[in-house]
Order: sequence, then C-alpha cells, then structure tokens
Amino acid sequence: HESKIKKADWIVYNTALEIDQSETLTLISDLKEAIQKNQLLLYIQPKIDVKTRKTLGGEALIRWVHPEKGMIFPDQFIPFAEQTGIISEITNWMLLRACQVLADYRSQGLHMSLAVNLSTRDLNNMELPEQIADLLKIHRLDAKALKLEITEGSLMQDPERAETVVRKLAAMGLHLAIDDFGTGYSSLAYLRQLPVQELKIDRSFVMFMDKNTGDASIVKSTIDLAHNLGLNVVAEGIENEEVLGQLAKLGCDEGQGYFIGKPMPEKDFSIWLERWEGQNEIDIDIGDDLS
Ligand code: C2E
Ligand code: MG
Ligand code: MG
Ligand code: MG
Repeated sequence: HESKIKKADWIVYNTALEIDQSETLTLISDLKEAIQKNQLLLYIQPKIDVKTRKTLGGEALIRWVHPEKGMIFPDQFIPFAEQTGIISEITNWMLLRACQVLADYRSQGLHMSLAVNLSTRDLNNMELPEQIADLLKIHRLDAKALKLEITEGSLMQDPERAETVVRKLAAMGLHLAIDDFGTGYSSLAYLRQLPVQELKIDRSFVMFMDKNTGDASIVKSTIDLAHNLGLNVVAEGIENEEVLGQLAKLGCDEGQGYFIGKPMPEKDFSIWLERWEGQNEIDIDIGDDLS
C-alpha cells in the first residue's frame, strides 16, 4: 500500500508540474503560430509636439488577437516571450511591419517616424544592427524614420554587450530613447555616456501630475535634467488637457497619451491624424524635420 500512496503522490506532483510545463509549451507554440498566422497586430499611438500640438509620428505597440482568448496585451506575453527567447522573432516581426508601414505612409506623402520597443535579449543580439540595416535598405528608409525605445533594465543585464549594440545602432543614424525613465536603477553617469537622443518619462509620474504636486515636481526636474544633458524629452500617459498644458509650460518637448490618441490599428492612424490636425487647426504636414 505504501508504494501505491507514494506513487499517487508522485503522480499528483508530477501532473502539477506537467500542467505548468505544458502550459508554457502551449504558449510558445501559440506564439509561434501567432506570428505565422498573422494574429499579431501593429498598433500605433501618436506622438505630438507638446507646444504646437503637431503630430511627429508614433510608437508601435504590439497586440495579439488570439483565436479563443481575444485581444491579448503585451504585458501578458512580452515578459514570457523574453524569458523563452521567442521575443527575437516578435521583434523581427515588429521591425519588419514598422518598416512596411513607414514605407506605405511615405508613398502616401506622409513622412513620419515610428518607435519600436526593444527588449533585453534584443540588446544582447550582436546581429540586430545588421538586421535593421537590411530592413531599412530594403524599404529605402532613412534611419531617422525608425526610433528604438530601450529601458534602463534591458541595458543592465549585460551593459557592455548592450552598449556595443546601442553604439552600432546610433552610428547607423537611428534615434534611441530611454523608455519608462525614472523607474529603473541605472546611474545617470552610465546613461549620460550612451548615444541616446531622448528620455521618455514614465507614465506613472505623468498621469496624475495635475493633482499630485510630488509627481509634478518629478516631471519638472526630469525635463530640466534631460535638457541639461541635451536630450529631447517625451511625456507618456497624458490623459487630460490640464496635463498637456502643464507639460507645455514646463518646456516638455513631446507627448503621448489617451487624451491625444489611444493606440490604434495602423490603418486608423490617418483618420485620427486628419481629425487631430483639424481640431488643432494645424497643417497636415507632419515630420518635416525628417525630410
Ligand atoms: P511602453 O513602451 O512604455 O508603452 C506605453 C504603454 O502605455 C502602452 O501600453 C500604452 O498603451 C500605454 N499608454 C499610453 N498612453 C497612456 C495613457 O494616457 N494612459 C494609460 N493608462 N496608458 C497609456 P501597452 O501597449 O499595453 O504596452 C505595454 C508595454 O509593453 C510597453 O510599454 C512596452 O514596454 C511593451 N511592448 C509593447 N509592444 C512591444 C513590442 O513590440 N516589443 C517589446 N519588446 N515590448 C513591447
Ligand atoms: Mg515604449
Ligand atoms: Mg514607455
Ligand atoms: Mg511603460
């Protein structure tokens, strides 16, 4: 009897483990299938000049439309994709789609920039700069049209390797932004010596800055810090007109957030653009600093 009980315990334990592993395996194969079967979508969230409200471009954000589970947001699968290594395939897909969208818009006379988010593994991939160079060449795109967003955390895993990749990308003329600034632990001394052009203030500091004076002073000092380092500064998470006005007063350069536009399917961007530019009575002539 004893052996039977032990066996039963083992089976229970083992089954629990198996469920865990098989769920992981299902998610991996689901993600692989997602890439092949076009279940991934590139959404765009617009980025504007805070002072003039002119549109400057957008950030590319991934969405996964799962056949059974519906829309899945990146926070639910990007960390997992990062752990299992499948992120490199996702990044390649996003970079390719971003270049296609940029080339598409250009053929319609729209010269804009798109920012793609990179992960830790991407920054440790020594082949990434060459892969991006190929994509730009194939789509005959100016390097400045593609921006890359990196987080402090993704730089810290293997700082030397990441720095090599970052330097190569910068040498190619790509613009780099530090994303979610203020939430990481990297030193300013380290960040200062990196060839980045932009700091994006994390939305947790921006969202309630009209109500919370502590948040407002963090945003103010980050804007000043960025400018003192010669960097462009972007605020994310602008949810109302007050915050947008406050940021303009503080001298923030660029902004994005639900008040301006939520992330949208790439085909809806031109409709949003027409409405936004009409509302703000500005010419539809975006990104002329790029041409
Ligand atoms: P992120 O790069 O910081 O992107 C900004 C996130 O803030 C987006 O969430 C966007 O929808 C959200 N957001 C923008 N404005 C507002 C606002 O006014 N209010 C609120 N509450 N939220 C706002 P999303 O699309 O769910 O993406 C979450 C994160 O997932 C991104 O944060 C980024 O770190 C990651 N991610 C998204 N797409 C990709 C991708 O293609 N590759 C990689 N590696 N990461 C990605
Ligand atoms: Mg980002
Ligand atoms: Mg961000
Ligand atoms: Mg974020």
